[in-house]
Amino acid sequence: MPPRYDAIVIGGGHNGLVHAAYLARAGRRVLVLERRPRVGGAAVTEEIFPGFRFSVFSYVVSLLRPEIIRDLELPRHGLDILPLESTLTPLPNGDYLAMWSDHDQTRRELCRHSPRDAEAYDEFGQLMHHMAMAVKPILGMVPPDPTSLSPGDLLGLARLGKHFRSLGERHFHALCKLMTMSSADFLDEWFEFDGLKATKAASGIIGTFLGPRSPGTAYVLLHHYMGEIDGAFRAWGFAKGGTGAISEAIAAAARASGAEIRTDAPVARVRVRGGRATGVVLESGEEVQASVVVSGLDPRRTFRLRRRHPSLQVPRLLGQGEPRARGAAELHLPTRSRPAPARRDLDQPQPRLRRARV
Ligand SMILES: Cc1cc2nc3c(=O)[nH]c(=O)nc-3n(C[C@H](O)[C@H](O)[C@H](O)COP(=O)(O)OP(=O)(O)OC[C@H]3O[C@@H](n4cnc5c(N)ncnc54)[C@H](O)[C@@H]3O)c2cc1C
Repeated sequence: MPPRYDAIVIGGGHNGLVHAAYLARAGRRVLVLERRPRVGGAAVTEEIFPGFRFSVFSYVVSLLRPEIIRDLELPRHGLDILPLESTLTPLPNGDYLAMWSDHDQTRRELCRHSPRDAEAYDEFGQLMHHMAMAVKPILGMVPPDPTSLSPGDLLGLARLGKHFRSLGERHFHALCKLMTMSSADFLDEWFEFDGLKATKAASGIIGTFLGPRSPGTAYVLLHHYMGEIDGAFRAWGFAKGGTGAISEAIAAAARASGAEIRTDAPVARVRVRGGRATGVVLESGEEVQASVVVSGLDPRRTFRLRRRHPSLQVPRLLGQGEPRARGAAELHLPTRSRPAPARRDLDQPQPRLRRARV
């Protein structure tokens, strides 16, 4: 008889791990099955060259919800977030653009390059702040199903409509632009200095496999105005030990609540009976049963696991074709020292954020 769990979570990325941790805290018997030798998915630290531990993909943190940090007591399980105090963009003419979390300091720096952009930066900052406040409450909502006539979904849709109405015409218009435009087009409407547009556009493509001219990337740009660390709004930071340390802390919290996490355990398919998932079969042939099977994989990979089960319906858009390779590349380089600070104040100690804590 195969072992039986209340829930199986396929994939030990940070989202799968958070899910497992909450289920285990609720007293459920949970098993996480991760294909790779370590948990983390795209939030992973690995020694890809001897002596250098890299955040291989994701590298900055901010959208990890403070309530999750608190509920799972992540600092107790090793999470330590160091603030990202400034960024530096080298320019082709040997100059640079430095930006700080302090708006006024950044504005002064911008004035060196384009007084017009420095002016616009104030209004841009205010608009993005408003937009971030408008979108933030939606992040934690269970999205209502627009095709359902159930009272819960209809109520959810009505609430969402009311929320958007409350933004007013100007902000609703801006939100529509942010949701649909490319970050390059959006920034072109605001600024003239290429160094600024390039720096901002970079934050619009992080983790998307898109380029700055792809529609929808303006919304990713907005994410950078939604960040929050330990109550400090718009703050971004680095996890000590690389982004993998976040996944490891979540995994430790899940284990402490009783979740079982198996690595080197690729799932080959989901078992389905009567239209319901009843367990999984690993690539090794091992079977595990569960009342609920949760996927921490992206939708395309998830529905591939149903291959031999035509009874599981694949949404039409996901069922077609392979993902196309496109977009931008990211380079993470170890340096012997900080990249040459061109101005003295970059060397001055900056105000530090409090560490994330419970
Ligand atoms: C290059 C890059 C840079 C990024 N930078 C940032 C950043 O700086 N800040 C930020 O907030 N976000 C960033 N992101 C986005 C962020 O990393 C991802 O959105 C996030 O890590 C996704 O987590 P996840 O748990 O949903 O999925 P994943 O991390 O994709 O986890 C899925 C897991 O499932 C496992 N798996 C797959 N198939 C199977 C199977 N058959 N059986 C068992 N396990 C399986 C995988 O090995 C993986 O561990 C970046 C993404 C990329 C790609």
